Amino acid sequence: MDHFLYKNGTLHAEDVPISEIAAEVGTPFYVYSAATLTRHYHLFTEALSPLPHMVCFAIKSLSNVAVLKLLGDLGAGMDVVSGGEYRRARAAGVPGNRIVFSGVGKTRDEMRLALTGGIRQFNVESEPELHALSEVATSLGLTAPITIRVNPDVDAKTHAKIATGKSENKFGIPIARAREVYAEAARLPGIEVIGVDVHIGSQLTDLAPFEQAYLKVADLTRQLRADGHDIRRLDLGGGLGIPYTRSNEAPPLPLDYGALIKRTVGDLGCEIEIEPGRLISGNAGLLVASVVYVKNGEGRDFLILDAAMNDLVRPSMYDAHHDIVPVVEPAAATEAAVYDVVGPVCETGDTFAKARPVAPMHEGDLVAFRSAGAYGAVMASEYNTRPLVPEVLVKGDHFAVIRQRPTFDEILNRDTIPEWL
Ligand SMILES: *Cc1c(COP(=O)(O)O)cnc(C)c1O
Repeated sequence: MDHFLYKNGTLHAEDVPISEIAAEVGTPFYVYSAATLTRHYHLFTEALSPLPHMVCFAIKSLSNVAVLKLLGDLGAGMDVVSGGEYRRARAAGVPGNRIVFSGVGKTRDEMRLALTGGIRQFNVESEPELHALSEVATSLGLTAPITIRVNPDVDAKTHAKIATGKSENKFGIPIARAREVYAEAARLPGIEVIGVDVHIGSQLTDLAPFEQAYLKVADLTRQLRADGHDIRRLDLGGGLGIPYTRSNEAPPLPLDYGALIKRTVGDLGCEIEIEPGRLISGNAGLLVASVVYVKNGEGRDFLILDAAMNDLVRPSMYDAHHDIVPVVEPAAATEAAVYDVVGPVCETGDTFAKARPVAPMHEGDLVAFRSAGAYGAVMASEYNTRPLVPEVLVKGDHFAVIRQRPTFDEILNRDTIPEWL
């Protein structure tokens, strides 16, 4: 459930009409619902209770500092994958001891930043990284708390570009080699082993791969304890999928996911950490655009919007489906028109949907892409010198721009012409 509903014939974000935001901000823009973000965060805390736990929001799905502040104030931890994201979490007021650092390519500078600024743990993904981290920590007179991300070799049955738990993926250490690498970690002076980490992919719509992975993690935890390691925290990653269509998809609920966690690793006495991104942010955001033209082509009609692949890349990158709805609610008996919904960018890939039934649309009408909160604004670019899409946060009847649309002066002033040219 989200808080984007039709009221009095027009789409609202909570109590604010989308058309009111559009009039003030201009299109395209992203809009997020505070109540939806809050609700989704609490679904996880409720699903994991009474196990000791921390829900670390995967910032990469939606990284606006205002959103991080909202979640951080609720008690959420943060999962970061870069020094930039670490800075965002801190700028939102999240203390270092609630930030976990994931990612296969952490640089020494990023390690230094997190070690000196405060960190809950590093999720280490390779032996070279382990050695680098020990060196950096030792040079600072510090010890780095770590888990090792193990690759359990399970098939997450999701889109190939977001599956991460198969042995051919670049992520983690093969679980068969884990004991050896933990032994090595225990010998390093700048490292404190505290747990095990696993993350098998994104947009999982079946619980079975989680179950396979977590059972392997449970076995490994027992072996590592027998080897003398003090394993007290399990980071079980993110990846729970969301419904992208209103009708026919029913991905597992956080409550069932929580029950699975209790069943597979609940008896180990570990603190449980999870790193959900999409399930918290995905259905908490819309991308709102205007119709620039309705173009009648040969055998098909095009709905040409002022939003493009640079604003929302998921359809062209992952073949993703987003429901597209008119902001003015169509009358009950309205017969849908069928459109190819496209942006203005000069690539055929700039297509949001083909042969999509939508209510009949006209120039200037507003449309909303649903489920656009995750991997939407964060993946936006200024391709075609289209200004970076702004973001708006709604809470009740309040709304605020939480990232301004840059002016063309700002965009052009970032380029410099060398004096020798
Ligand atoms: C991307 C990612 C997540 C979040 O995945 P979602 O599908 O958005 O829940 C969590 N942990 C790690 C390590 C990731 O790379």
